[in-house]
Amino acid sequence: MNKRPLYFDYAATTPVDERVIQVMIDCLGFNANFGNPASSSHAFGQQARQTVEQARRQVAGLVGAQAEQIVWTSGATESNNLAIKGVAQARGMTGGHVITSQIEHKATLDTARQLQEAGIAVTYLVPDAEGLISVEALGEALRDDTFLVSLMLVNNELGTLNDIPAIGARVREHGALFHVDAAQGAGKVVIDLARWPVDLMSFSAHKLYGPKGIGALYVGPRAQQKVLAQIHGGGHEGGLRSGTLATHQIAGMGSAFALAAESFAEESAVIVALRERLLEQLGSIPGVRLNGSATQRIPHTLSLTFNEGEFNAAALSAGIAFSATSACNSASNAPSHVLQALGHDARSAARTIRLSLGRFTTEQDIDQAVQLIRTALTSAPAFWTV
Ligand SMILES: *Cc1c(COP(=O)(O)O)cnc(C)c1O
Repeated sequence: MNKRPLYFDYAATTPVDERVIQVMIDCLGFNANFGNPASSSHAFGQQARQTVEQARRQVAGLVGAQAEQIVWTSGATESNNLAIKGVAQARGMTGGHVITSQIEHKATLDTARQLQEAGIAVTYLVPDAEGLISVEALGEALRDDTFLVSLMLVNNELGTLNDIPAIGARVREHGALFHVDAAQGAGKVVIDLARWPVDLMSFSAHKLYGPKGIGALYVGPRAQQKVLAQIHGGGHEGGLRSGTLATHQIAGMGSAFALAAESFAEESAVIVALRERLLEQLGSIPGVRLNGSATQRIPHTLSLTFNEGEFNAAALSAGIAFSATSACNSASNAPSHVLQALGHDARSAARTIRLSLGRFTTEQDIDQAVQLIRTALTSAPAFWTV
């Protein structure tokens, strides 16, 4: 087997924690908990239902919500679609105004475009130079007919952290609903939905050591009856999202969120130390710049631009698995919309990498990565230079 590169792409996805894998396996075979959670008339279904409801409590527990406020989806993409299209359709999908930002995930941006197709006005807020959305910018964009604001908690490319409680307070003053994409924030920053003025929040399991293909949407009291289902058939999840519940995926997400709650303090301290080790060593390379706020951020995700010298991203990717822009943009090969919004030109964007750290990153990984970056900066033949 070829030696695998060092993994520095936890913001794209994480491996499933071995403890989570075990919980998932326990929901699969004939001698395991394989029943349909909707089969309420027999023990197989009842046991599966118990597992699903325990997972719902575990997800709710990490974010300060009530279990009954959590709706299972296939991931944060679907959660964003359900929140944004669901709210717009519940009002008839005509007219009105929605606010989001230029640096949202494509799952939000592409969904907002769908609303525009239907004649709904959308404002895309410009982030400040630090990559943050300010309360002032939001306040200026609010209109009488604004019915929804959708902003992310943590930016997936920059790792920057929006002040969601402050922004939410302004949205609530106005009266619009507030949706937050927290796919990159859950388990990395404290989220307290019992206190935060947030009405809808999206989560994904696979950014937090759970499986791909499962996520959740928090639906708070002000959003009740104001979200229209996107997937019909059977009326599961209080009619908000039909389809047989994927017990193994759900149990995996619950377990992953419970583990995150348990290890939060300890794990954050380890990541902070690793980040410091990385930045300290990179600091001796001339022309390195950290994109986005240095303080309003999570420690896990770092967007770095190498301004000086030759830079061979292709050579670097043989040794380090990182993201050139974000995994989602990489598919389309377009320069990152996030870096563009921060004022990067094509050259600068091409000299930018996202390194994201996680549960299995070691000090040795950091030291080796820095060595590989140094080599990439000096070994590039002239034609590689961008
Ligand atoms: C990964 C991600 C998504 C999409 O989540 P999936 O579960 O993969 O659909 C949405 N928003 C952000 C910020 C993300 O990082």
